[in-house]
Amino acid sequence: MEYSAVARRAAPASRILAAALACKALDEDDTAALIYDLDGLDARLEAARAAFVPGTLHAVAVKAMPMPAVLSRLVARGAGLEAASLPELHLALAAGCEPSRIVFDSPAKTVPELRQALSLGVHLNADNFQELARLDALVDAPSSAATIGLRVNPQVGLGQIADTSVAGEFSKFGEPVEKRREIIEAYVARPWLTGLHMHVGSQGCPLALFTRGARILLDLRRDIDAACGGARITRVDIGGGLPVSYREGESEPTMREYGAALARDCPELFDGSLAVFTEFGRWMFAGQGFAASRVEYVKEQPGHRTAVIHLGADMFLRTCYVPGTWHHDLAAAGPDGALKAGAENPWHVAGPLCFSGDFLARSRPLPDVAPGDFILILDAGAYTFAMWSRYNSRQMPKVLGVSGGRFVTLKERERVEDVVAFWR
Ligand SMILES: *Cc1c(COP(=O)(O)O)cnc(C)c1O
Repeated sequence: MEYSAVARRAAPASRILAAALACKALDEDDTAALIYDLDGLDARLEAARAAFVPGTLHAVAVKAMPMPAVLSRLVARGAGLEAASLPELHLALAAGCEPSRIVFDSPAKTVPELRQALSLGVHLNADNFQELARLDALVDAPSSAATIGLRVNPQVGLGQIADTSVAGEFSKFGEPVEKRREIIEAYVARPWLTGLHMHVGSQGCPLALFTRGARILLDLRRDIDAACGGARITRVDIGGGLPVSYREGESEPTMREYGAALARDCPELFDGSLAVFTEFGRWMFAGQGFAASRVEYVKEQPGHRTAVIHLGADMFLRTCYVPGTWHHDLAAAGPDGALKAGAENPWHVAGPLCFSGDFLARSRPLPDVAPGDFILILDAGAYTFAMWSRYNSRQMPKVLGVSGGRFVTLKERERVEDVVAFWR
């Protein structure tokens, strides 16, 4: 049998789907599912730990995959969590994360949120000078484990995707490093300000952009320390952003390469003089989850073959709205989950929503499919379920994890009553 290169890439997902169907971890009411390779997730965290000095806090970005059942696994294996909203902060707590291992970032923190974060004792990164002025009135006795930092935009430039790049000349996040003098003055005036934070961007940024950003942050640290007359900066948070490959034949930088590039350009991160934090999201989760949907209908018109499936712009918001940028490799499997082989034809893969842009792919080469077959959507572990759209009020699918060949339900399929309750 002839498998295409993309189908070969989907082989592990197909084996997992077949096993889930065989053991009835998925039943006929599961029109779609998201499945995580939990051992693969563990391996990612291990790779991050191996690339940095011991003691580095890898605060995994909750926004990429907010389910406590997934986050708690990482927390139990030594990860921290990064929260970008008050509910994300509480998801981190629900995942069993100690406040001293939670980083709270958000560009819009309110005074009550700041107060709560300080009393919990999390690591807080202020976004801007106005937020620091608010903190002046609140910081009398932050818990001893807490630290407060400032987010700085290193202004290293944009990656290939403007919408996920935040370190251009202008950004809505942080204070730009061009305000160096004011930034240093802010530290001189506030003995409790001991952290420095940056996040360069996400998918589409080359390694050099991250290492340049970290270098700029460390040079700023040197100047702040000098102006404060001692080692003021005790915590440097270099953010997340390592990209992943979403396409067959496209390579991604490895965590080991990133660590080696940082060790070369930013040795201070490895000499034990600083607490180092990272905030990886996409790199941690994307390749560890895939989605599968049954094909409900197949429509044919001259020049058009369309498979109508149960996932579209509800779970793959970016793919459907900005299809050129947010590609997912797709593969076809039979009703038992086994990969389909043979001749490929151009297929449209349409989602279930009442929205004419609701396509996961147009004219994608796939083996012919029929109702009851499956479409596998690869690299669906980050920023997919997390961005679930309530439009059309469809039920969120079941989320499974697999470890050592055993399946666990990480989140049950949403019931119709749950959706009705959401809108009440
Ligand atoms: C989104 C975000 C992250 C995670 O980015 P990834 O590209 O998923 O690694 C980390 N830190 C901050 C501040 C973010 O906004």
